[in-house]
Amino acid sequence: AKASGRGGVVLFESQMLVEREQRRSLEIDLKAAVRNGDFQLFYQPLIDAQTRKITCFEALLRWDHPSRGMISPEIFIPLAEEMGLIMPLGDWVLRQACTQAATWPEHMRIAVNLSPLQFRNPSLMTTIMNALATSGLAPNRLELEITESALLSTEERNTEILNSLRQLGVRISMDDFGTGYSSLGYLKHFRFDKIKIDKCFIQSIQEDDCNAAIVQAIVELSAGIGMSTTAEGVETAEELDFVTKQGCTEIQGYFFSRPLTSKDAQTFIDAQT
Ligand code: C2E
Ligand code: CA
Ligand code: CA
Ligand code: CA
Repeated sequence: AKASGRGGVVLFESQMLVEREQRRSLEIDLKAAVRNGDFQLFYQPLIDAQTRKITCFEALLRWDHPSRGMISPEIFIPLAEEMGLIMPLGDWVLRQACTQAATWPEHMRIAVNLSPLQFRNPSLMTTIMNALATSGLAPNRLELEITESALLSTEERNTEILNSLRQLGVRISMDDFGTGYSSLGYLKHFRFDKIKIDKCFIQSIQEDDCNAAIVQAIVELSAGIGMSTTAEGVETAEELDFVTKQGCTEIQGYFFSRPLTSKDAQTFIDAQT
């Protein structure tokens, strides 16, 4: 509601103060968390649409806050980016994810999300090489997920980075496909290994013919240029049925599993092998 009179304005200002205070305290906590390593990786399986076997796990970061509990990456990743903490945090994620994946059966891969700032940081190659060397994970078992927003800067530089990554032998996925803009332009300049169809297109497939048509078009396009597709956010049997019929390569979503602790991921693996 609009502030009325002087009292209202004062109230409004004090609310802003409270918000600024909360943000400030979150920032202090985040700095300490990076120092103390108060983070945990969860792992969500990706399932082969045909064989229904695990192909990969996506590493999803959580902040295990001492008093607030688990904090979502949607809240603290942007903060870490603004505060210049995303490099140490991202390095930790890469090392941890590779080390974990090295304990899994050899045909299973690990997918790691890269922030646009990490993508552009010159130290990225060294970090990845170190993570692979320390863990002993084969490079082709590591998939890097990048979003369209990572590719907004100049095209030449992007292609350079992508090619250097490719030379390391890792796989590269385009995440949240279709939610940014000029997506198709990127495909012309660089061949990704995989396209992840954003969950906004998968959910409400039942009610929305338009989403169904978009999924169908993305799968056809990807197949046409030799990229595989992952359908994200598959929650129901109907959605699973649809994306399978459309020919998506892999399925990810609550229908098969929520993100799991490393221990539960191992149980999930054991149940299948
Ligand atoms: P994302 O890369 O698109 O990851 C998929 C998100 O969808 C995850 O949210 C996952 O838990 C959620 N999800 C999976 N299946 C379903 C489903 O069936 N239904 C619904 N409603 N949601 C589903 P989460 O774990 O909260 O992560 C949010 C975002 O935070 C990620 O989106 C990614 O952009 C970012 N993120 C997570 N971990 C990292 C990280 O280590 N580094 C960076 N830079 N970003 C990360
Ligand atoms: Ca992702
Ligand atoms: Ca995604
Ligand atoms: Ca997303």
